[in-house]
Amino acid sequence: MLIVDSHLDLAMNAVEWNRDLTLSVEHIRNSESGMNDKPDRGNNTVSLEAMRKGNIGLCVATQIAGCVKGENLQGWSSSHQAWAQTQGQLAWYKAMEELGEMRQITSLDELNNHLELWIQNVDNQAIGYILSLEGADSIIDMQTLENSYRQGLRAIGPAHYGKGIYAHGTNSIGGIGSKGKELLKKIEELDLILDVTHLCDQSFWETINIYNGILWASHNNCRKLVNHERQFSDDQIKELINRESFIGVALDAWMLVPNWKRGVSSPESLNVSLENVVDNIDHICQLSGNSFHVGIGSDLDGAFGNEQCPRDLNTIADLQKIPKILKERGYSKSDIENIMSENFIRFLRNNWK
Ligand SMILES: [Zn+2]
Repeated sequence: MLIVDSHLDLAMNAVEWNRDLTLSVEHIRNSESGMNDKPDRGNNTVSLEAMRKGNIGLCVATQIAGCVKGENLQGWSSSHQAWAQTQGQLAWYKAMEELGEMRQITSLDELNNHLELWIQNVDNQAIGYILSLEGADSIIDMQTLENSYRQGLRAIGPAHYGKGIYAHGTNSIGGIGSKGKELLKKIEELDLILDVTHLCDQSFWETINIYNGILWASHNNCRKLVNHERQFSDDQIKELINRESFIGVALDAWMLVPNWKRGVSSPESLNVSLENVVDNIDHICQLSGNSFHVGIGSDLDGAFGNEQCPRDLNTIADLQKIPKILKERGYSKSDIENIMSENFIRFLRNNWK
């Protein structure tokens, strides 16, 4: 079954973690033995090879560089430095395109063409990617955003962690201010997809009240299941459903079970499994009364590895275990296809007309 993943930090892994994603997961793990500069060394789950193995033919792939110091990801001192970092990441995606490993998708025609090629298996299985920016601090001004659009950017999240330039993100409290409003106006004008993931509650609702364009949540779970502001409340989920949006559920263990302690808990000690991922999918389906608004936004290798993801997932190819769990819970074949790929594809087809 074709799987779409709506959130992967591929370039971050390649450029900052120094992982050659053209190799197997096993090979990358071996190459990191003895390294301890990052908590997830030797525990990676993603490579382009593993994605092919799992029939993950399409993904949203990020550029990522914030300006917030002291958070768990690199914080730059200025937008200009953050911009440079994201340009390095883009250069890696372009290099993968030249190798035939990836294919950038920016329009409906390109989407349809890619899916046809993927299903027919006619080329060397280039993985399709839609370029997204996670946290907008690298956007120096609105001209920069136009330049990014010309480079193929099609989705953007205004904030990541902490207080950003355009909005307040995870673990902060505050609104979007005049800069955020200017950004949202430009996003709408360019027909970019607004990614509401990582917005704190106040910034989320301020955004919802003034933004009329296309929006999704690329990697978000349910607050009902793990009570943290990074997760969406039922009201937030319902708002997204009402706007014909798409929500990708994430596989980071702390977002799947309550009381996860980073660096202390293990997938085994808290029995974190793909069943917990399906709990989140199911909760969103129950709120919408159908299977049309949810998919997979795994965030695998998003600064955590299999020390902090479901115990029954060794590599990203194991996303293929989710359909069986959905079936056991009574989901029909078409429901399962909706969740694994069709909802995402339909979202783009509806909005990229
Ligand atoms: Zn994220």
